[in-house]
Amino acid sequence: TPLTTTRNAEISERDRRSVFHSWSAQRTLAPLPLAGGSGVEVWDADGRRYLDFSSMLVNVNIGHQHPRVVAAIQEQAAQLTTVAPAHANETRAHAAELVLERAPEGFSKVFFTNGGADANENAIRMARLTTGRDKIVSHYRSYHGNTGAAIVATGDWRRMPNEYSRGHVHVFGPYLYRTEFWAETPEQETERALRHLERTVQAEGPDTIAAFLFETIPGTAGILVPPPGYLAGVREIADRYGILLILDEVMAGFARAGEWFAFDAFDVRPDLITFAKGVNSGYVPVGGVVISDAVAQVFDDRVFPGGLTYSGHPLAAASIVAAQQAMADEGVVDNARRIGDEVIGPRLRQLAEESPLVGEVRGRGVFWAVELVADRATREPLAAARIGAIKTAMLERGVLGFFAENRVHVVPPAVIGDADAHRGLDVLAEVLQAEAARG
Ligand code: PLP
Repeated sequence: TPLTTTRNAEISERDRRSVFHSWSAQRTLAPLPLAGGSGVEVWDADGRRYLDFSSMLVNVNIGHQHPRVVAAIQEQAAQLTTVAPAHANETRAHAAELVLERAPEGFSKVFFTNGGADANENAIRMARLTTGRDKIVSHYRSYHGNTGAAIVATGDWRRMPNEYSRGHVHVFGPYLYRTEFWAETPEQETERALRHLERTVQAEGPDTIAAFLFETIPGTAGILVPPPGYLAGVREIADRYGILLILDEVMAGFARAGEWFAFDAFDVRPDLITFAKGVNSGYVPVGGVVISDAVAQVFDDRVFPGGLTYSGHPLAAASIVAAQQAMADEGVVDNARRIGDEVIGPRLRQLAEESPLVGEVRGRGVFWAVELVADRATREPLAAARIGAIKTAMLERGVLGFFAENRVHVVPPAVIGDADAHRGLDVLAEVLQAEAARG
């Protein structure tokens, strides 16, 4: 080993040899080793610090290593580290009670899962069994998770109530900046996206559709804040045709959008809510489904054919209880909303006026997208190589960004203060200026 080898280099090399990474061709990967963190900062194995403008995978809403959440996990570990889902457990009941407190009237139960994907799997299952229909309509611009085969591969009786011959239908949702509907105003975008949705329902056959599964604010797809009236219109169409509405709050929920649930900011009530990420900031893997009374009652006397070994795991439950209590006590949701309204929003809008590389900015709370373009008139996305250069330049200046396609997402922990938010936004502005000058 050369004398110049650092801890970072050594860890990277061991990672490269043995760890298989998500969503990647493995050969060219060079992941940044992270060794520790606190609040809005993380540091690598050589002690270099970074401002975390990514919240990892947009999930560390309460910041890194929150002492109350860490202590709660430690205490639960000392008491009972694991318990089968069929047993009752006080910590799990407490976690469910606190999640239900954030939900609107008319929600009565929580089903816990290991993460967001299986939360959506189980919400879909509930919707199909409740309606007796099988198709699920979702948006092309969406991400709902990475599962889909295990229960159908299963051989025993549990497979049978989960076998469906018809599956999924997609529609375009509203996205005025790159409209599919030739719209020029948010009102037109709403009206035409709703018409497209309703025509799709009619063409598919309304009595074949169990649910709409929509992210309240599509996240990875570009933080596409729905225009006024869209979600209310979705609810109306759902009601007209006896379709359930599942809102995926995995990324948008628990302070990310400056609300407990992002749909609190819109005129809509879902039948099922899926959550993960921000509920405990990912300190232990967990997700779940918040179930309305009407859907919960279907399973009062009927077997629910779904379950997971770690459903309601006590370490996850303890981290939810502590994270929820700390978020409430520290006003984290209000902080996220205020930072969005007073710091991130105004700074990004200013950047959109000044930088030739910024086509549009949009978002709320600590959930913002900056759409980078080669040409503001044609809206041609900025080339991948230039996006990569921007990412590297931000990292060199100590800011860890979140990048998706031609966008940088400004998604810091919801606990971020004004000074740190400005520090990260200064770096973004400087880097964009340098990149624009480089051409
Ligand atoms: N739903 C949304 C909106 C997401 O953003 C994600 C993950 O990014 C998921 C579901 C899947 O969650 P998980 O990766 O925990 O399975």
